[in-house]
Amino acid sequence: MEKICVAIRVKPPSIKQESVTKGHEWKVVDKTIALCSAAGTLVSGHSFSFDTIFGTSAKNADIYEQHAKAVVLSAVAGFNGTVFAYGQTSSGKTYTMRGSQAEPGVTWLAVDDVFRSIQEMSNREFLIRVSYMEIYNEEIKDLLSPDNRKLQIHESLERGVFVAGLREEIVDSVEQVLGLLESGEAQRHFGETNMNMYSSRSHTIFRMVIESRDKSQDDQDSDPDSSASDAVRVSALNLVDLAGSERIAKTGAGGVRLKEGGHINKSLMTLGNVINKLCDGGGKQGGHIPYRDSKLTRILQSALGGNARTAIICTITPDEIHIDETRGTLQFASRAK
Ligand code: ADP
Ligand code: MG
Repeated sequence: MEKICVAIRVKPPSIKQESVTKGHEWKVVDKTIALCSAAGTLVSGHSFSFDTIFGTSAKNADIYEQHAKAVVLSAVAGFNGTVFAYGQTSSGKTYTMRGSQAEPGVTWLAVDDVFRSIQEMSNREFLIRVSYMEIYNEEIKDLLSPDNRKLQIHESLERGVFVAGLREEIVDSVEQVLGLLESGEAQRHFGETNMNMYSSRSHTIFRMVIESRDKSQDDQDSDPDSSASDAVRVSALNLVDLAGSERIAKTGAGGVRLKEGGHINKSLMTLGNVINKLCDGGGKQGGHIPYRDSKLTRILQSALGGNARTAIICTITPDEIHIDETRGTLQFASRAK
């Protein structure tokens, strides 16, 4: 069982602007995705192989079932997990994670699955808490709390790394969680004049903390320590919609924008570094993993590496104008193998 799994998802092409294109096309053949010229020859340096590539006809449910579900079920079983979507703006990250009413995304499907599977585990009693936060400009905002306070990260022996003051709602139904997600989204929009720019530069983390207790322990009057570690399990499942991975032009942007871009690149770059180190077995050899270099990786620290499982969905667009960004995303994905 792989700890970190990466899959590529190719979104359907946008309406073609034939006049400005040279006819390059990303082609998926089996487990390889490669850029081909109009004449059908491979463009060198643009061929990448992965275990899982979802083509343009794949549905959110396919991505969930084949790629994310294992992480969700392992979270119910007591192991931390993270599912995240990485890719340039407009490549389908939000489509994949949130989806629509017609086609619910990974988050909705995961929430549904969590409630379904805990119902089937009659020997355990569950307590589920959710939180929803956003990182913008290396500042953490609580999407479930109406005030606009910036939250800080703390660390303690009992709690490990945590976001101080973050609201956690106890939930017992899918509907309740969906309601919270919706109000969190509304909170994001608050006061934003340019929602597109804003959402493409922020990371959102939706987290479910799943706590369970073995019910059979109630019948035994044994001392609490004898029941081993399985009596109580606590795990976190993080569902993350990352900021756009595109490089932000240094020219033509004002001071503020430049700062935002820098931060996001730093956060994503750190995430890339952390994933690379983990994939190289850095954690096992006691090597340094730079979790502390960004808010994003700090918050996800206990759910990346160690016993945790991670599913990465790299979303790309086949459009010719985005060849460079698509190649960048495929390179990121290659380093996570
Ligand atoms: P991102 O969150 O990466 O910026 P979005 O998820 O908002 O990108 O997707 C951009 C647009 O493309 C949206 O209009 C979305 O509905 C559409 N889209 C993305 N992926 C798909 C897909 N797999 N099938 C159909 N439409 C898609
Ligand atoms: Mg988005």
